[in-house]
Order: sequence, then structure tokens, then C-alpha cells
Amino acid sequence: MAGERHRIITIANQKGGVGKTTTAINLATALAAIGERVLIVDLDPQGNASTGLGIDRRDRKLSSYDLMIGERGITEVTLETAVPNLFIVPSTMDLLGVEMEISQQSDRVFKLRKALSSPEAMAFSYILLDCPPSFNLLTMNAMAAAHSVLVPLQCEFFALEGLSQLLETVSQVRRTVNPRLDIQGIVLTMFDARNNLAQQVVNDVRTHLGEKVYHTLIPRNVRVSEAPSYGKPAILYDLKCAGSQAYLQLASEVIQRERQRLAA
Ligand code: ADP
Ligand code: MG
Repeated sequence: MAGERHRIITIANQKGGVGKTTTAINLATALAAIGERVLIVDLDPQGNASTGLGIDRRDRKLSSYDLMIGERGITEVTLETAVPNLFIVPSTMDLLGVEMEISQQSDRVFKLRKALSSPEAMAFSYILLDCPPSFNLLTMNAMAAAHSVLVPLQCEFFALEGLSQLLETVSQVRRTVNPRLDIQGIVLTMFDARNNLAQQVVNDVRTHLGEKVYHTLIPRNVRVSEAPSYGKPAILYDLKCAGSQAYLQLASEVIQRERQRLAA
């Protein structure tokens, strides 16, 4: 069924700098490259996903803010990117005001879900939501709108601590506003093989979370960190680098899980 081939994935972790935006951009690019129609919704007022995909601030006349307050539809706020099949709803600093504006409304948690339930939104096979680094109303809207959560986890000592808090939030969202919310998977990012602690973190995470953790390890890679300053996904900036190759592999794991889910 057409509707089944439509998946909204929120990329969330309340910590900043763990690779959410990098994962959103490169996973989206990899999915678009194999012909999927993909939309990124930039939900971070910082707008790193928008900048990283080369969207000039002057071109962000309409943004995820307009979508969130319900004044514009998905078609109006969506921009093309340089990547064929990849589209973005950019963000601006206006998003900082959204919480205040909608906090008194009874449907405040469902703003995004409503905006993404239009036929135009359903026409994307993947919608990736790039969340801000906090559990605020924007993140809650993303969790209420999504089918699943993809969690980037940086290979560092406190990784697991933050994760249990995040998983608890997911359970809470499931009990209250979105029973269908699933864990899409956990992806370990910025892995540095020369760091013994990083290997230990990988082992711990795999022991605790088993098959939820993707086999793909995203390595720490300088080409990946350079790419956004050129307004390009790493996959376009340097396809051959280890980071880009890892993101391609991650995309194939995501697709494989989707196939298994559809077949089940
Ligand atoms: P978040 O969205 O969770 O705040 P980002 O994706 O913006 O995290 O990543 C934080 C910083 O780390 C950015 O400067 C980004 O370029 C860099 N970074 C992310 N992933 C990698 C990687 N695999 N290798 C090197 N640098 C990375
Ligand atoms: Mg980010």
C-alpha cells in the first residue's frame, strides 16, 4: 500500500553535538540517492540542517515555524536542495518563539503531526525530523508526529546515561500521545578506533540494547565535519571518505529494517 511506504523518523537526543544533524543530512542524502523522495524538517532554531544543505538564510522566507503554528502547508514551506529527491523545510530563529505562541493551545503537542498528515506530506517516502538538543515542545511535537525515533549516540562515557532518559521519554510519549512510536534504531557516531574507551562504550551499548543498535559504526572523520561549511552533505562533498561510506551503509540498514517491518 502506498501509505505504508511513508515513514516519519525523528532524529532525537537531548544532548547537543552527538551527530543528529549530520545523521539527518547524510541519511536523507543516501535515501534520496537511491530514488526515495525524502524531506528533512529542520526543527532546530540553529538551522544547522538548513545551512548544511546549502540553504541561504535569505531564502528562508517561510520555515518550520510557519508549519508549526499552522499558518502554512507543507508545499508552501518546502524548498528543493541541490540533492535530487531531497527537500527541506528550513528553520529560522523564529522557532524560538513557537513554544510561547502555542503553549496555551490544547493541541500544542499535535501541531506537527497535523501539518504532516496532508496528502503532500504523505507523498514523501521518508520524512526525517531534525530535533533540537532538548526535550522541549518541538521535540515532543516531533515524537508525536513520528512513526519512529532514530537515536544518534556519541561513543563517550556518559552516552548510556542520557540514553536511558531518552528511552523513558519515548515510553512516556507512547503511553500518552503516540502509541505507534517505535525505536527505529540507535546509531553510534564519531567512533574513534584509537580510543579504548570508545570501544568499551560500543560494547556496553550493544550489551544493553542488542539488536536495536545498528551494525554500522559512524567513524569520526574530518571530511564529515568539513562538509557543512561547503553547504553539502558529506556524501556529496567526499563520497569515498569513511564517514560517507558509513552513512551509505546506515541507509541500507534502515531500508532493510523497513522491508522487514513491511513484511511482518
Ligand atoms: P547535533 O545535531 O547532535 O548537535 P551535529 O551533527 O551538528 O550534532 O554534530 C556536532 C559536530 O560534530 C558538528 O560540528 C559536526 O560537523 C561534527 N560531526 C558530526 N559527526 C561527525 C563525524 N562522524 N566525524 C567528525 N565530525 C562529526
Ligand atoms: Mg543539530
